[in-house]
Amino acid sequence: MEKKFPTVEIDVNQCKGCALCIENCPPKVLSLSIAYNRLGYQYAEYKGEGCSGCEACFYACPEPGAITIIKEKKKAAL
Ligand code: SF4
Ligand code: SF4
Repeated sequence: MEKKFPTVEIDVNQCKGCALCIENCPPKVLSLSIAYNRLGYQYAEYKGEGCSGCEACFYACPEPGAITIIKEKKKAAL
Protein backbone atom coordinates (compact mmCIF):
# COMPACT_ATOMS: atom_id res chain seq x y z
CA MET A 1 0.00 0.00 0.00
CA GLU A 2 1.28 3.49 -0.88
CA LYS A 3 2.26 5.46 2.23
CA LYS A 4 0.24 8.61 2.89
CA PHE A 5 2.00 11.82 3.92
CA PRO A 6 2.43 13.41 6.37
CA THR A 7 3.11 10.31 8.39
CA VAL A 8 4.62 9.42 11.74
CA GLU A 9 7.19 6.74 12.46
CA ILE A 10 7.69 5.35 15.94
CA ASP A 11 10.87 3.59 16.93
CA VAL A 12 9.29 0.77 18.89
CA ASN A 13 12.33 0.08 21.05
CA GLN A 14 12.83 3.75 22.03
CA CYS A 15 9.23 4.05 23.22
CA LYS A 16 8.48 3.73 26.96
CA GLY A 17 4.72 3.56 26.54
CA CYS A 18 3.97 6.76 28.49
CA ALA A 19 1.07 7.54 26.09
CA LEU A 20 1.76 11.30 26.07
CA CYS A 21 1.82 11.26 22.28
CA ILE A 22 -1.52 9.46 22.20
CA GLU A 23 -3.14 11.99 24.56
CA ASN A 24 -1.74 14.94 22.63
CA CYS A 25 -2.59 13.84 19.09
CA PRO A 26 -5.53 16.01 17.90
CA PRO A 27 -6.94 13.55 15.30
CA LYS A 28 -6.36 10.59 17.67
CA VAL A 29 -4.46 8.47 15.19
CA LEU A 30 -2.07 6.96 17.73
CA SER A 31 -2.78 4.09 20.11
CA LEU A 32 -0.94 1.77 22.45
CA SER A 33 0.12 -1.62 21.13
CA ILE A 34 -1.03 -4.92 22.54
CA ALA A 35 2.49 -6.29 22.05
CA TYR A 36 5.53 -5.34 24.15
CA ASN A 37 8.86 -4.01 22.94
CA ARG A 38 12.19 -5.48 23.97
CA LEU A 39 12.25 -3.31 27.13
CA GLY A 40 8.88 -4.70 28.19
CA TYR A 41 6.78 -1.63 27.34
CA GLN A 42 3.67 -1.43 25.25
CA TYR A 43 4.46 1.11 22.54
CA ALA A 44 2.71 3.77 20.52
CA GLU A 45 1.43 2.74 17.10
CA TYR A 46 0.19 4.82 14.19
CA LYS A 47 -3.12 3.82 12.65
CA GLY A 48 -1.62 4.37 9.20
CA GLU A 49 -3.69 7.35 8.09
CA GLY A 50 -5.08 10.64 9.36
CA CYS A 51 -1.85 12.27 10.60
CA SER A 52 -1.90 16.03 9.94
CA GLY A 53 1.83 16.49 10.55
CA CYS A 54 1.13 18.87 13.46
CA GLU A 55 4.13 17.51 15.45
CA ALA A 56 2.27 17.60 18.78
CA CYS A 57 3.29 13.98 19.44
CA PHE A 58 6.93 14.78 18.69
CA TYR A 59 7.01 17.62 21.23
CA ALA A 60 5.06 15.65 23.84
CA CYS A 61 7.40 12.65 23.70
CA PRO A 62 10.08 12.54 26.41
CA GLU A 63 12.16 10.00 24.51
CA PRO A 64 14.48 11.61 21.96
CA GLY A 65 14.34 9.69 18.72
CA ALA A 66 11.18 7.71 19.44
CA ILE A 67 8.99 9.75 17.06
CA THR A 68 9.80 11.01 13.60
CA ILE A 69 7.34 13.03 11.54
CA ILE A 70 7.74 12.68 7.80
CA LYS A 71 6.07 15.48 5.89
CA GLU A 72 6.49 14.25 2.35
CA LYS A 73 7.79 11.45 0.24
CA LYS A 74 11.54 11.68 -0.24
CA LYS A 75 12.48 12.73 -3.72
CA ALA A 76 14.57 10.19 -5.59
CA ALA A 77 18.23 11.12 -5.77
CA LEU A 78 19.25 12.54 -9.14
S1 SF4 B 1 1.99 14.71 13.93
FE1 SF4 B 1 0.08 15.40 14.94
S2 SF4 B 1 -1.54 14.32 13.84
FE2 SF4 B 1 0.37 13.26 13.35
S3 SF4 B 1 0.47 11.58 14.84
FE3 SF4 B 1 1.62 13.34 15.68
S4 SF4 B 1 0.14 14.46 16.95
FE4 SF4 B 1 -1.01 13.06 15.63
S1 SF4 C 1 5.27 9.88 23.97
FE1 SF4 C 1 7.10 8.79 23.20
S2 SF4 C 1 7.63 7.36 24.82
FE2 SF4 C 1 5.54 8.07 25.24
S3 SF4 C 1 4.21 6.52 24.24
FE3 SF4 C 1 4.57 8.15 22.74
S4 SF4 C 1 6.35 7.49 21.52
FE4 SF4 C 1 6.30 6.28 23.41
